[in-house]
Amino acid sequence: TVGLEKHFHLPAGPFRPAATLRAVDGIDLAVREGETLALVGESGCGKSTLGRMLVGLLDPSGGDVVYRGRNLAAFTRPELRSLRRELQIIFQDPFSSLNPRMLVSDIVGEPLWLHEGLGRRARGERVAELLSLVGLSPEHGERYPHEFSGGQRQRIGIARALACGPKVIVGDEPVSALDISVQAQIVNLLEDLKERLGLTLIVVAHGLGVIRHMSDRVAVMYLGEIVEMAETDALFDSPLHPYSRALLAANPRAVAGDRRPRRLLEGEVPSPTAPPSGCRFHTRCPHAQAICAESRPRLAPAGTAPRQVACHFWAEIAEGEVAHLPSPV
Ligand code: SF4
Ligand code: MG
Repeated sequence: TVGLEKHFHLPAGPFRPAATLRAVDGIDLAVREGETLALVGESGCGKSTLGRMLVGLLDPSGGDVVYRGRNLAAFTRPELRSLRRELQIIFQDPFSSLNPRMLVSDIVGEPLWLHEGLGRRARGERVAELLSLVGLSPEHGERYPHEFSGGQRQRIGIARALACGPKVIVGDEPVSALDISVQAQIVNLLEDLKERLGLTLIVVAHGLGVIRHMSDRVAVMYLGEIVEMAETDALFDSPLHPYSRALLAANPRAVAGDRRPRRLLEGEVPSPTAPPSGCRFHTRCPHAQAICAESRPRLAPAGTAPRQVACHFWAEIAEGEVAHLPSPV
């Protein structure tokens, strides 16, 4: 993607002036084929919006989404329809994304009918295959979504997403609505499917715990921007951006053996309708200096590893020299 933006125009209302909500602001992101990329940040950081734009469910208000060398905006309607088969999304709440009045076999088989025009018999066979691929049995197809547990419903959602042989799957917080014990099962299933089917996975998450073991790279997002982009191990070993550091400190258990108490990030998340000037994190950053409120740091290569950070002082902070920084005026 190149300079991707999504601005929502909020209508004027009695309590709210007309405003532009910058959900994703000038993001440049290249997803590599076959990788698992995590988009992480607090709610409202724009990670879901970005995930939806990446699969063509939302059109960017500026910038481009490029898929296999072609701009999505340049696809014709029929091309877009076939593209939909390659780019799929799994939602957070499997219940609200499954039609309660449809049999599971019809839910899973619907894309086969819509996109491939498969007849009843062929569809039935394919649905049985898909159900077993996600650890369910063909008999499960003859029931309704409410008859299943949360984890099983997410399996149904995954089977539906797999129906037309996708290349890229975006999981929008695919396990955060599930019990902890079930989360690992679904994560394992996704990893297994990724290997077997050669998928590219983009996992949207608000916490680091889930993505620690499944993602190859992580994009940490704050108020519509990517503030750090790193290989997963590098991020967990040495987060460079103060916000990444704060996320890790808030969830030390995501790091094996770390028994430090949780340290929650102070301060409110500023409104995306009026993001802070300069570095958007400066209102909450423990290292903020005067320049941080004025000059917006760009995502730029940091260190030797293929890594990018948007912070004026990442190097000084990493060196522990932060105490030597000129104090804010
Ligand atoms: Fe903190 Fe300044 Fe870096 Fe922003 S640019 S993260 S405010 S030190
Ligand atoms: Mg979301």
